[in-house]
Amino acid sequence: MDKMDKTIPVTRSSMPDFQEYMKEIRDIWDSKWLTNMGIKHQQFENQLLDYLGVPNVTLFNNGHYALESVLEAYGLMGEVITTPFTFSSTTHAIVRKGLKPVFCDIKFEDCTLDPDKIEALITDRTCAILPVHVYGNPCHIEAIEKLAKKHSLRVIYDAAHAFGVSYKGNGIGCYGDASMFSFHATKVFNTIEGGAVTYKESSLGPILDNVKNFGIKGPETVEYSGGNGKMNEFQAAMGICNLRHVESEIARRKIVSERYVAQLEGIEGIKLTKIKRDVNHNYSYFPVLFDGYKKSRDEVFEELCRNAIMTRKYFYPLTNRLACYKETYRSETTPVATYVADRVLTLPLYADLELEDVDRICGIIKN
Ligand SMILES: *Cc1c(COP(=O)(O)O)cnc(C)c1O
Repeated sequence: MDKMDKTIPVTRSSMPDFQEYMKEIRDIWDSKWLTNMGIKHQQFENQLLDYLGVPNVTLFNNGHYALESVLEAYGLMGEVITTPFTFSSTTHAIVRKGLKPVFCDIKFEDCTLDPDKIEALITDRTCAILPVHVYGNPCHIEAIEKLAKKHSLRVIYDAAHAFGVSYKGNGIGCYGDASMFSFHATKVFNTIEGGAVTYKESSLGPILDNVKNFGIKGPETVEYSGGNGKMNEFQAAMGICNLRHVESEIARRKIVSERYVAQLEGIEGIKLTKIKRDVNHNYSYFPVLFDGYKKSRDEVFEELCRNAIMTRKYFYPLTNRLACYKETYRSETTPVATYVADRVLTLPLYADLELEDVDRICGIIKN
């Protein structure tokens, strides 16, 4: 096939070797135990505790349900300070749990919640802060947690982008009260669909178990009106396989990212995010800001599209501009987020993206 005819997707799911997965699911066939916290589930959960370096973890069928579940498990009521520069899931989880999102602006440098703008939004109804480690960039953790302590607020991170990230030598899931990870097919690490909550206090575990399994405590005991958020054995088997390769996956993403940096760094009007000190990054996305460039973000998007190169305006629109929220919220209150959302584009990034494709993509951007 001609190189120019090949469509380059914005992401591509990482998958184990077919035989490796077959071998892993053999036991599931033999045991006929398909879900409800079977052997694969327990094994995967233990491996994650170790890999993420966290004290506690509970698995879920997807990241969104994990996020809703942790909000529910803490019994939160009132207002939650959060960012509009995220995937709709973050805002939906807050709203679906009967809470009110209060949108705080982001920092231009790293697109995470601006800690200097949080305190002005705290009221006597505020119960939690829900920041997002956008593109795997850790939030301003110390500043956020200092504020949370001062005002007795929960801190729950949306760490959907941050699998494998560590900060100051600790797994990113060690910070705050709890963190949600997504193992969706498009993320750095996947279990097809899947997710987890990591948390500080082990007492949260039984509550999360209630939320994710109908509140069932025994054959005749149901003590909580829970839902169904269980990860099944096939998802866990996928996790076990993918976890074996995640480090090399991230290493290959790093090589691709560094090639982009080499090609695009220092160009007038193109801004790249810098990896912060003390961070082991996961190279989950490659965002580029077209800020004063000779072409607008939308023009670059269209031109790449004409060349069969898929990119994503991620995140655009902001969640406070979505049809379901724009009547209630005003994006004028988050000007930095609005500015970035109008100019950002995430470029194709996955482990086996060819470096010559990176060069071709950058060539088109540079004309
Ligand atoms: C993917 C994602 C989610 C939702 O996770 P799912 O596993 O797809 O349910 C939530 N927040 C952010 C920022 C995400 O990128």
